Amino acid sequence: MEDIVALCKRRGFIFQSSEIYGGLQGMYDYGPLGVELKNNLKSAWWKSIVYDRDDVEGLDSSILTHPDVLKFSGHEDTFTDPMIDCKSCKARWRADQIDDKCPKCGSQDLTEPRPFNLMFKTSVGPVTDESSYAYLRPETAQQIFVNFKNIIDSTSRTLPFGIAQIGKSFRNEITPRNFIFRVREFEQMELEFFVLPGDDDNWHKSWVEMRTKWWIEQGIPKDKLNVLNITGDDLAHYSKATADIMYSFPHGDEELEGIANRTDFDLGSHTKNQDSLNIKANVKDNNKSNSRLAVQNENKEWIVPYIIEPSAGVDRGVLAVLNEAFTNEDLGDGKTRIVLKLKKHLSPIKAAVIPLKRNNENLVNKAHEVKNRLQKYQFGRVVVENTGNIGKSYRKHDEVGTPLCLTVDFDSLEKNTITIRDRDTMNQESISLDKIDKYFSDYYSDA
Ligand code: ATP
Repeated sequence: MEDIVALCKRRGFIFQSSEIYGGLQGMYDYGPLGVELKNNLKSAWWKSIVYDRDDVEGLDSSILTHPDVLKFSGHEDTFTDPMIDCKSCKARWRADQIDDKCPKCGSQDLTEPRPFNLMFKTSVGPVTDESSYAYLRPETAQQIFVNFKNIIDSTSRTLPFGIAQIGKSFRNEITPRNFIFRVREFEQMELEFFVLPGDDDNWHKSWVEMRTKWWIEQGIPKDKLNVLNITGDDLAHYSKATADIMYSFPHGDEELEGIANRTDFDLGSHTKNQDSLNIKANVKDNNKSNSRLAVQNENKEWIVPYIIEPSAGVDRGVLAVLNEAFTNEDLGDGKTRIVLKLKKHLSPIKAAVIPLKRNNENLVNKAHEVKNRLQKYQFGRVVVENTGNIGKSYRKHDEVGTPLCLTVDFDSLEKNTITIRDRDTMNQESISLDKIDKYFSDYYSDA
């Protein structure tokens, strides 16, 4: 983990938030390369969930959330961790994380466990009073449920179909830790997939398989992933079945994504006319909603769809792919190099064009010309690396996972050639500049 954190800072992937003022705990900022990596991971998810399928629509809803949404969802009552305070040093701990003494000062003078709500509350509008507050959403899912009718009405979807959303979520985690693994502000990639009751078990099973396969495509080896079926008391109250995709993070085996069969709990909680809908889940009485969140079957009976929810953390995903890609490679003769063997579709920089000499105008202009030509393919960022030191440039781009380095030298000017260096094999080949567009677009078109 230390190596990854150091690389992230050194090369501009991830910084501690508000670092110059001492940092804000549980918050991180994604730097120039981090934002590219994160966007690439999110695009890969969006492509596989929305574009490659014919049964999913997208959504981008607001972060500030009406209190009733999180009241009827149950978050106001139940989104809590039991906490224990140390009466001596005032430290606060999650009850499931300590034994009978304070890990900080060793005192046994502790309070009984008390609930602690994980939601951030903020005031909305000019007057701060009890009627003008909203929550920062603790998950993106609730806004999908409350938009169910808008989306059905505007797209004429029938079951089964899904609504996908990527965005920020906020949880006032008691002990944020392990770098970007557990933070207070994070991003989620969530799909709510609506199915006919009775079809739910099969869909749950197939979503667990599809999501596991997707993580493998992002460069996580199969043997580092493990599907954990949650049972008994560990199962959330609304869930009929939950499978967590666990990954061997540097700090241990932990949840990367959860896939839950949420039954009719969510739409049942947010719908009007609950009594007429034969809702199976145990929902809070809702007298506020003005929308019937149900669909008609072929016999014109109203049914509340069941929901299968694959919910993945973007930040945990970034940490997992960085951890897998990070390689300290032995080059023989006591030499090593750090190389980030990211899948090419995830690499923050698709190609670095390197002029052999930084102060030679012809070489530098040629490099910019090549960069502009390749940038227009829209595979991601292409840069000119104008340090004048080829060895240093290769080392830097190995460390940030750039698959291709293209060196512009005097042959480029005289013989119209360019040298391509491959990140993983370090092989170099000289090709005609006329062929570089095709080489580059072929290389990335299957990524
Ligand atoms: P955990 O048990 O680790 O707290 P959770 O079961 O509460 O996670 P979910 O509510 O299922 O998490 O959220 C779905 C996904 O969102 C998780 O699989 C994880 O990838 C991500 N996630 C949840 N909480 C955090 C957090 N504090 N920091 C980063 N990612 C998070």
